Amino acid sequence: MSFSNLGLSPEIVRAVTERGYNQPTPIQKQAIPVVLAGGDIMAGAQTGTGKTASFTLPLLQRLSTNKNSQSHAQGFPPIRALILTPTRELAAQVEESVRDYGKYLNLNSMVMFGGVSIGPQKRQLRTRVDILVCTPGRLLDHVQQGTVNLSRVEVLVLDEADRMLDMGFINDIRRILSLLPKQRQNLLFFATFSEKVKTLAAGLLHHPTMIEVARRNVTAAKVIQKVYHVDRERKRQLLSHLIRENKWYQVLVFSRTKYGADRLVKQLGEDRIQALAIHGNKSQGARTHALGKFKDGTLQVLVATDIAARGLDISELPHVINYDLPNVPEDYVHRIGRTGRAGAEGQAISLVCVDEHHLLADIEKLIEQRLPKEVVAGFGVNPDIKAEPIPNGRKAPSGGGGGGQRTRRSAPKSASQKSPRQPSSRTAAGDKKSGASSPTPRRSGKRR
Ligand code: AMP
Repeated sequence: MSFSNLGLSPEIVRAVTERGYNQPTPIQKQAIPVVLAGGDIMAGAQTGTGKTASFTLPLLQRLSTNKNSQSHAQGFPPIRALILTPTRELAAQVEESVRDYGKYLNLNSMVMFGGVSIGPQKRQLRTRVDILVCTPGRLLDHVQQGTVNLSRVEVLVLDEADRMLDMGFINDIRRILSLLPKQRQNLLFFATFSEKVKTLAAGLLHHPTMIEVARRNVTAAKVIQKVYHVDRERKRQLLSHLIRENKWYQVLVFSRTKYGADRLVKQLGEDRIQALAIHGNKSQGARTHALGKFKDGTLQVLVATDIAARGLDISELPHVINYDLPNVPEDYVHRIGRTGRAGAEGQAISLVCVDEHHLLADIEKLIEQRLPKEVVAGFGVNPDIKAEPIPNGRKAPSGGGGGGQRTRRSAPKSASQKSPRQPSSRTAAGDKKSGASSPTPRRSGKRR
């Protein structure tokens, strides 16, 4: 099966071929024909499956085939396709793909997110923007200022919708939906299926085709998972020891909190290990810089919070370290999905202190697997140390304090709109429910 067999135009096939893709991935095979035919989709797919091209390619083709004949007399030219993403990095990556795959077409795209000045965005929105890729918050800033025209959106894409909901963006999304024309195509992507995703889909999609590509098998032999038990106060020492002794390079370390991430970077620096952090409090410039260095192999350690790391196109990493276990067990699966890709073997190591035993139990329940546990010589566990609560998930192991922690918003109370057609035979990705603690409402979408 080739891309042209899927009904894509020669211009798009050429761009894709130049990118080095010979064959569509499973999600591309399933999604592209449906989107080309104008249908709604609801797709369960994680980063790394080729999901971005699965919506970008047919979207580009539809926009270039159905020329926008409507004129706009004055003001801001209408956006034709709106792609919403939870994070700035994902928005930037998606827009880069849009530009790349659409380079032989006459379509304009723009990426837009907060944390950078709004003036240049307003200027760009005055020009023709066919495809707008953005995060919900900044889009609403423009809506409020009357500097974006959403009245003629033909296609809406919600990328990583589950993550947007987890981040508390539901009200922002509802508000945006209310501004769009009723008649439009909707493409909803999620990594983990949940009640919240189902409710959102019910109000959004019309007779969607359900698509699911295999969830990454977290037990695959390619990812070696291990737990090292260690005392709370000795995690940092152990991490430095492991990195130095094993001469690890390109290590992605997950921290539960922004504060913990910054603190760890400092401590690793004191141990002469070069590290940078990526999280929601970092400026866009700092995030791009850190990611760039990490990707090109000049940065040894990248310390990230879950949401900041989410959706980043960094794959085939040799080492993923859970410095803190995540509060939400599904995040463990997302984290370790960064390693051992495409035939490359990877290690996913969790440093677990006595406070985190219940989190470990939740993870093992979710992945239906007992993880091998070890103690590193010289880092034996002191049995006299008692478990301490992780207050609101804020306590950073190794004696640290808190920092932005993930809270989850409760599912919307009602779904007044009609249900999407139920799939005939399907289990949405990640439909195993976790034993995660009950969600805590939060006012607005926050970034970590
Ligand atoms: P995504 O799941 O969209 O984040 O894509 C993950 C990675 O797969 C990206 O680096 C893409 O450039 C790459 N990719 C997407 N489609 C294909 C394909 N058909 N063949 C090979 N690589 C692909």
